[in-house]
Amino acid sequence: EPFVDFRHVYLAYDGAAEFAVEDIDLQTRAGEFIAIVGPSGCGKSTFMKLATGLKQPNRGSVVIDGQTVTGPLKFVGMAFQAPTLLPWRTTLDNVLLPLEIVEPYRRDFKQKKAEYTERALSLLKTVGLDGYADKFPWQLSGGMQQRASICRALIHEPKMLLLDEPFGALDAFTREELWCVLRDLWAERRFNVILVTHDLREAAFLADTIYVMSKRPGRIVVRRENPLPRPCP
Ligand code: ADP
Ligand code: ADP
Repeated sequence: EPFVDFRHVYLAYDGAAEFAVEDIDLQTRAGEFIAIVGPSGCGKSTFMKLATGLKQPNRGSVVIDGQTVTGPLKFVGMAFQAPTLLPWRTTLDNVLLPLEIVEPYRRDFKQKKAEYTERALSLLKTVGLDGYADKFPWQLSGGMQQRASICRALIHEPKMLLLDEPFGALDAFTREELWCVLRDLWAERRFNVILVTHDLREAAFLADTIYVMSKRPGRIVVRRENPLPRPCP
């Protein structure tokens, strides 16, 4: 069965005369990496809100991992365009943050902390940040902060990773380097990924399937399979 299953989904924001997205019908396989591309205003963020349960459709249904989504999902990791590391925390403590938010009341949190720290250090190593665990965000370049943000998004081993223009603020060289970092992480762990981007090359390098959205109405107008091997930048 599909992992992400949008069935003819329509959403209008309160007071809006038209739908922000309409008739979104999309199914993903387990472990699939999809990209949503399209111009600003076509409904990409709205799609993300629906996929995380921050918004519910007016019409149609959103089913994720077999469950109809009726509220915010807990098993997703997210990373955004702007680095959002907390400046007063080290890289390691930033990466561990989601666990402190999601699991503070676990009786065994203290015991688990050693295990989580090990997992965090291993992720940091995979993205080339070994040696930076004890540094603060201001001591890291933009690219390094973004790597740390991706580790943070993956620390609780989410089934689904949502990336909203995660590399948009980076220079072209760093961006392409991070594409490879992300691809390695995904190849190793096979979580489900939804990537929103307006960089078509990024979508073509990373995603198994590319969905193109149009504006007014916000619809999916193209679905393209993008089989391996994909062109390396
Ligand atoms: P994208 O992420 O592709 O730029 P959005 O999903 O943000 O597109 O926007 C899709 C449409 O919904 C746009 O017409 C936008 O103006 C409208 N929209 C987005 N957010 C809101 C909101 N909170 N309230 C009303 N309209 C919104
Ligand atoms: P950028 O985003 O500026 O292109 P990268 O994240 O690609 O930088 O990092 C390139 C390399 O430069 C890193 O592997 C690291 O060794 C070094 N580096 C960058 N910024 C710093 C810093 N503030 N302190 C120490 N080393 C750094």
